[in-house]
Amino acid sequence: MAPVADTPYNLSMPRAVKKSATTPERDILKLIPADEHRAQPKSRRIGIHTSTAGGVETSAERAWRLGCNTLQIFSSSPRMWRPFDISAAQCEAMLRLRQQYDLKPLVIHANYLINVAGTDPEMLEKSVNALRAEMERAISIQAEYVVLHPGSFRSCTREQGIANACAAISRASDGLNMEQNGLTLLIENTAGAEFSLGSSFESVAELIAALRAHVPVASCIDTCHTHVKGYDIVSEAGYEETMRNLDATVGLANVRVWHCNDAKAACGSKLDRHDSIGKGTIGAEPFRRLLHDPRHAHAAFILETPVDEPFDDLHNVEALKALAE
Ligand SMILES: [Zn+2]
Ligand SMILES: [Zn+2]
Repeated sequence: MAPVADTPYNLSMPRAVKKSATTPERDILKLIPADEHRAQPKSRRIGIHTSTAGGVETSAERAWRLGCNTLQIFSSSPRMWRPFDISAAQCEAMLRLRQQYDLKPLVIHANYLINVAGTDPEMLEKSVNALRAEMERAISIQAEYVVLHPGSFRSCTREQGIANACAAISRASDGLNMEQNGLTLLIENTAGAEFSLGSSFESVAELIAALRAHVPVASCIDTCHTHVKGYDIVSEAGYEETMRNLDATVGLANVRVWHCNDAKAACGSKLDRHDSIGKGTIGAEPFRRLLHDPRHAHAAFILETPVDEPFDDLHNVEALKALAE
């Protein structure tokens, strides 16, 4: 049987070449015994998108063994509409392990099928229900953030897309008391595919401004998406210029999560292919700059890098930790 894809990187690849950290030979739970866990970072919150194979609480154990102090997970199958519940016992186990291992924040990446920006009523209905279920699960496991790709407005205008997204998100969150439950929705910038909302910082900021009346909302910025969209984060001057731009639009204080991914494709290519830190077209130095920038000290830095070989996840976490020192 084909392995279940469980990293955002895998989801953007053709089914035949999907690789996963869930397959036994790459699963860190089998590769690193509990008493050999790696040391956690000291100066920054650093983590990786982590498998929940075997139950949601196993992700906390994986993050701990990898030496993380934050993590991101999928709360259900990322490419199925199937309803999914997390048991009370699993929620308790997750919370206990997160406290024991000092893992925070907990970030949930929303299902990839969700599109809140379109106009097709059936698709919108499914998306509202799926997003609501994501937020309900997030509250039940006390996650701090749900990361959402704003979606595509192919069938209508941009303005209508934003209006659709606001209406759908407002319906999905109706009565959930996100604020009291400590849950914030994070809008992620995209790689720049045609008709996708949120590929420019201005577009992310516009969406956040429109959503503010409905939900606690901030943003997640992905380094790979930023780079392939055409922003310069590689040269020192380019990094400063890009941060000035991000601050003037989204606001750096609103960037709560940085997805730290190197890129397989060139700056401006709009091709979303994540690579290991230091191995791609971004290279290691920009990540050092990002991690040392005091304007991001409040943020969590989370990898979504491919796990093609055993320990690829560990190597990326260690690379990011070394660059943060
Ligand atoms: Zn991302
Ligand atoms: Zn991506």
